[in-house]
Amino acid sequence: MSRPVGLISALPAEFSYFEDFVDSSPVVREAGWEFRNGVLEDIPLVIVEAGLGKVQTAVVATLLIQQFGCGGLIFSGVAGGLSPDLAIGDAVVATRVIQHDYGALAADGFVRYQPGVPPLPGIPTDHGYALDTDVVDTLKSTLHGFRLPRLPGHLPIEDRQPTVNFGTILTGDQFVNSEEVRNRLFGETGALAVEMEGGAMAQVAERLGVPWLVLRTLSDLAGVDSHIDFNVFTSAVASGAAALVREVLPVIVAKEDEGEPAKQ
Ligand code: SAH
Repeated sequence: MSRPVGLISALPAEFSYFEDFVDSSPVVREAGWEFRNGVLEDIPLVIVEAGLGKVQTAVVATLLIQQFGCGGLIFSGVAGGLSPDLAIGDAVVATRVIQHDYGALAADGFVRYQPGVPPLPGIPTDHGYALDTDVVDTLKSTLHGFRLPRLPGHLPIEDRQPTVNFGTILTGDQFVNSEEVRNRLFGETGALAVEMEGGAMAQVAERLGVPWLVLRTLSDLAGVDSHIDFNVFTSAVASGAAALVREVLPVIVAKEDEGEPAKQ
């Protein structure tokens, strides 16, 4: 493979674990972002802290592909857990990402649509961007037996081995900080986690025809305490997301080497 993989995070705490991958070549500044070259097990990387939310992420993803020549994209960072089966520190590898905040807002509530389609009655409301099943199978076998780092003992949480899970991740331009919203989102979609960037990166990657992966570890459970947990746990749990990058990088490179036609 000759093209680099673009590695995106949103926050300094997430990006800090990528410093090990950065090489000594000069930082490239573009539109206010800093793009750093790196390498991990002989795979070239372009690494960037994009900031929060879908639009920031979409611009950075586009620059990575169009300007920096990346042939695949990985988002790695933290998220809020939605599934009652998951705890802070657990990881979710997205098999599908859904932008949960794109749609129509009517008197009787919100109807979710696929980004880019007119959110009007009669238009199909199926949504999301999914990985091909062969990629999901390869991810599962690659991560079989992989153990995430345990969280440091000083944190106010039960000492347990964090789990790696596969499923849907929701993306929206809102920090979810409510038990009611968390339960509703889980009930409507069965998604395991919610965050603010992955679905935007996937939309750009699908549109421009490159493979993508979204890897998240849970900093909070998106409920009434999520703003407190986020501050307590983000720095520690982000190390798990970075550890996953190391494991799954060959999967995206293999998919890139197969080549994918651009989708509309
Ligand atoms: N207060 C923080 C910003 C938090 S935004 C600050 O000052 O920097 C939360 C970030 O972590 C986003 O990048 C999002 O992708 C992820 N995230 C973690 N928990 C989340 C939640 N409960 N809802 C939505 N996004 C969450």
